[in-house]
Amino acid sequence: MKIFKIIICIKQVPMVSELPWDAKTGTLKREMAQGMMDPSSRRAVEAGLQIKETRAAAGEQTHITALSMGPPMAAEILYQAKALGADRGVLLSDRRMAGADTFLTSFILAEYIKRQAPDVDLVLCGSQTSDSETAQVGPQLAGELSIPAIGYASDINVQENLVRVQRHVDDFLELLEMDLPGLVTIDQGAYEPRYTSLGGVQDAFEPGAFESGAFEDDASEDADIIQVDAKGLGLDGTFNAVKDSPTRILDVYSPTTQKENIVLKGAPKTVVDQLFDEYGKIISSAMGKDLKTHGHTRE
Ligand SMILES: Cc1cc2nc3c(=O)[nH]c(=O)nc-3n(C[C@H](O)[C@H](O)[C@H](O)COP(=O)(O)OP(=O)(O)OC[C@H]3O[C@@H](n4cnc5c(N)ncnc54)[C@H](O)[C@@H]3O)c2cc1C
Repeated sequence: MKIFKIIICIKQVPMVSELPWDAKTGTLKREMAQGMMDPSSRRAVEAGLQIKETRAAAGEQTHITALSMGPPMAAEILYQAKALGADRGVLLSDRRMAGADTFLTSFILAEYIKRQAPDVDLVLCGSQTSDSETAQVGPQLAGELSIPAIGYASDINVQENLVRVQRHVDDFLELLEMDLPGLVTIDQGAYEPRYTSLGGVQDAFEPGAFESGAFEDDASEDADIIQVDAKGLGLDGTFNAVKDSPTRILDVYSPTTQKENIVLKGAPKTVVDQLFDEYGKIISSAMGKDLKTHGHTRE
């Protein structure tokens, strides 16, 4: 019986409460923040698990690989994915991959899939992450793999060699059909994630579950979570994500607003006249209406 193969891309993001920045490079100091699974990726995991359960009820087999690129600490979210029900976790990690922009992130994820999982049926991604939310990785990954993609899915129904995908667009519901293999990104409001069960956590942390540095072929059968470096992916010795990324973050800053308190004094008519003389234009633009057309002109 054919096993339906799903790869779910998951990213570790810093807890929203702690976001230390490297002001020089404009990148997050991820190693200093406690990590968690990106909420959007978590919904993609839930979508994969529900597909697996639906297929299991029909007597069909599904294999789920959770795939992440990140620093070694990102292995934590692979354990979590395993605890939730993924069959395998793969961490793509190497100092030379650090600082990748979305273009290289998608390229590296694609290199793994092309080399180690060319027979994948369905790739799932979150729609956009909570830390940089570019929403570019899913579509770019589909481009790298030369497979079709549908974004912002609220429901996925796997058929023989295709998926039927429902998505909300403004006030409409769209029902789309796409040949497989293909990639789907999950809408932020869909597939409410389940809780991690204690039994799942116990399974995920079984001895021998993790093998660092092993390429999938070399990893022992027991290794449910493996780590692959740049060499293991076949990236040449000169590869360097910071240098090779075609986009760069030039600056990251919070926009500032200027506030001033003004007290208008005098008789009511004087105050209203003064208000419209000095602030008429600002009030009009804030209201999106020309005040002159609404009977507020003085003459
Ligand atoms: C503030 C800030 C702004 C940035 N702006 C840009 C920018 O404009 N252009 C640019 O090229 N880079 C940018 N980056 C770099 C960017 O964060 C990384 O390239 C990152 O790995 C992917 O981008 P994202 O988090 O926006 O992914 P998104 O495209 O928002 O992620 C969507 C989904 O793709 C998958 N995914 C994303 N990253 C990974 C991963 N590492 N491993 C596995 N699956 C993954 C997940 O399923 C995720 O839910 C920015 C970084 C920061 C901190």
